[in-house]
Amino acid sequence: MEPDGKPISISLDRNEKNSSLAFISHAHSDHIAAAKSKRKPKIISSPETCSLINAVYGLNPELYESKGSNDGISMLDAGHMLGSKQLCIDAGNGRTVYTGDYQMQKSRVSKPLDYTDADTLIMDSTYPDPDIKFGDRAETEMLLQEWTEKRLNEGIVLFGSYAMGKAQEIIFILNKIGIAPVVSKRIFEVNNVYIKYGYNLKSYSAYDAPDDTLTFSDNFVGVVENNTLKRVSEMLSMFHKKHVFTAVATGFASIYRFSTDAQFPISDHADFNQAIELIERVKPRKIYTYGNNNAKFAHNLSNAGYTALPYPGGKTITIE
Ligand SMILES: [Zn+2]
Repeated sequence: MEPDGKPISISLDRNEKNSSLAFISHAHSDHIAAAKSKRKPKIISSPETCSLINAVYGLNPELYESKGSNDGISMLDAGHMLGSKQLCIDAGNGRTVYTGDYQMQKSRVSKPLDYTDADTLIMDSTYPDPDIKFGDRAETEMLLQEWTEKRLNEGIVLFGSYAMGKAQEIIFILNKIGIAPVVSKRIFEVNNVYIKYGYNLKSYSAYDAPDDTLTFSDNFVGVVENNTLKRVSEMLSMFHKKHVFTAVATGFASIYRFSTDAQFPISDHADFNQAIELIERVKPRKIYTYGNNNAKFAHNLSNAGYTALPYPGGKTITIE
């Protein structure tokens, strides 16, 4: 509650006009509307997320300074990407946790998910379907490494990826087998934020690598943003007169067939079984589903024996 007795309303990864604060769970572009908005609400977020928002979008959101247990607002790690958090609210109606994007498997470039008992759990609904299952991450990483080494003998290898989170995961996996890939300018900028927070990623920027470290006469591995994969692949093939092998690493690889030479189902989201695992750990009395697919997710959770409903609070959470 605010000092004047008014309830505090917090936007959840959105920019709702009636909210006094905004929670930004992580720096992916579909979650940062509040940081872009002209009304500039104070932001509940991690310093890592603020650094990424600054490096990638050139924005300077003002962080809300939590008064610790006084205001009932705290955060827990979400395991999704660097700086990703869940929001934890302690109020008159008990404890509520909003997950934002999260995952339970250990990412190479993010702190693992943390959890607490809560009365109410508001869950992200990205993968609402029990049929979608992400396999063993270590095994998939090994397949990615083996495929890359094999193809590198025959040509150039190019990965398409989100610039934030997944690109760094791929780079880390490649670094483990001694490969430092060439990356796009934006990915290089994001890498620098990860490095600032202790993740030792080795890569070269395609724009300013020193000549003596980047030997284009050899085959090499590149990581670029998804939307440029096809174009860069054609360009490299024409310029170097070599075969360019393309690949993606995404959770959607377990649902869709991509027009690349290889695809690896490495997700930074929870699948349905991981969602159940989180519910079992948090033991909430009420479960709400949030975001795209929330109705389908609630339906499938109900089929699995849990009482779940699409979140009725709109895009905000209110502390009475
Ligand atoms: Zn995300």
